[in-house]
Amino acid sequence: MTVKVGVIGAGICGRSVALMLRHIAAVSHTRMRISLFDGQGVGPHALMNCPSAVAAGMLAPYSEASVSHKWLIEAGSRALALWPSWVEQLDRPSLLSQSGTAVVAHPQDKRELHDFSDRLMQVEEGDMSCLAPLPQSLTSQFAGRFNDALFLHEEAHVNVPDLLTIMADRISDAANIDSHCMAVQSIDQELAVVTLGNGERITFDYLIDCRGLGAKSDHPDLRGVRGEVLTVHAPEVNYEHMIRLMHPRYCLYLVPRPDNVYVLGATMLESEDKGPVTVRSALELLSALYSIDKGFSEACVLSMRAECRPAFPDNQPRIATFGRTITINGLYRHGILLSPLAAQVASRTLLHAIDERAVWHKESRIPL
Ligand SMILES: Cc1cc2nc3c(=O)[nH]c(=O)nc-3n(C[C@H](O)[C@H](O)[C@H](O)COP(=O)(O)OP(=O)(O)OC[C@H]3O[C@@H](n4cnc5c(N)ncnc54)[C@H](O)[C@@H]3O)c2cc1C
Repeated sequence: MTVKVGVIGAGICGRSVALMLRHIAAVSHTRMRISLFDGQGVGPHALMNCPSAVAAGMLAPYSEASVSHKWLIEAGSRALALWPSWVEQLDRPSLLSQSGTAVVAHPQDKRELHDFSDRLMQVEEGDMSCLAPLPQSLTSQFAGRFNDALFLHEEAHVNVPDLLTIMADRISDAANIDSHCMAVQSIDQELAVVTLGNGERITFDYLIDCRGLGAKSDHPDLRGVRGEVLTVHAPEVNYEHMIRLMHPRYCLYLVPRPDNVYVLGATMLESEDKGPVTVRSALELLSALYSIDKGFSEACVLSMRAECRPAFPDNQPRIATFGRTITINGLYRHGILLSPLAAQVASRTLLHAIDERAVWHKESRIPL
């Protein structure tokens, strides 16, 4: 028997789920037909307006210690460990750069760096093996500016636009995945039925709901947290490592992309406004950029984008089962980092349910 699975939403989460599910089903010889729906399309040229499309691509659980709970370091480091095999599986290892993060502060903000180091020590319970000496290249680049930098050697970053495109290619190549450029109007979680915008109803054996903020009507406590990012081209600056700037009012990062392109982010505002980047945010981001390296003064701004991260009140992701549906949502600041882990957990849960012919009679949460 072929199991029919509907995946709703083709951001990073839905794409990862479709591809991971296909892989796990093949390994376990489960016959499966996966249908992936997104109102914005899935193909390599779909113009995506969703947080997945603007994300900087940091895979940085330790740097996030300043703004996140201990669970993120724990789950995030497991997710980080999956990335090398995940990009191998996508047949594009070059998407991943495992070059680490330098955490810096200006001399007047030294206190922030100490606080970060204390917080890391606390959440890591004294084990500071995530830190290593600053690479020689950075020591000379930072000379006279950032003398006390910390270096998180295990952290990595991924080129998100290329990742989404490669995933779209793999999805279109997969014989058992159909993608549909269609918004889903509603989902019946108990019966695994989706109703499309034109009123058509399609019944599946199981659903995986990855709609992010598009699922707000089913999650009253889901909210959007606005984030703004700038992308610049700076031929005079050469950094291969991520840089995180500690500051009393904001925590900013710089993520390198190929050909001297850098993504600078991100603001964090309790707002669901997806309107253009404000002058205040642009000024803050650009002055931080200039303060990291004066070589950025001649950089060209390629884009300024704003999106809203899907978040629950505790800012932790939620994977839950109910009826014939698995929902994954609330990936907040960490959806790119956590995507292979969330997809693996959801795919294994689904395979287990298929084996047991299970239906979940009450809602339960699955830890990452
Ligand atoms: C500025 C910024 C920077 C970020 N940087 C990073 C980073 O460096 N590292 C990191 O790990 N995370 C980062 N994030 C967070 C990350 O982007 C999110 O956690 C992640 O994108 C959430 O992915 P998702 O697939 O769950 O949701 P989304 O990206 O919102 O995708 C949901 C998809 O569902 C579709 N959809 C919605 N409703 C429907 C419907 N009714 N029918 C069909 N389809 C529907 C949408 O079109 C969309 O394509 C950043 C976020 C922002 C805003």
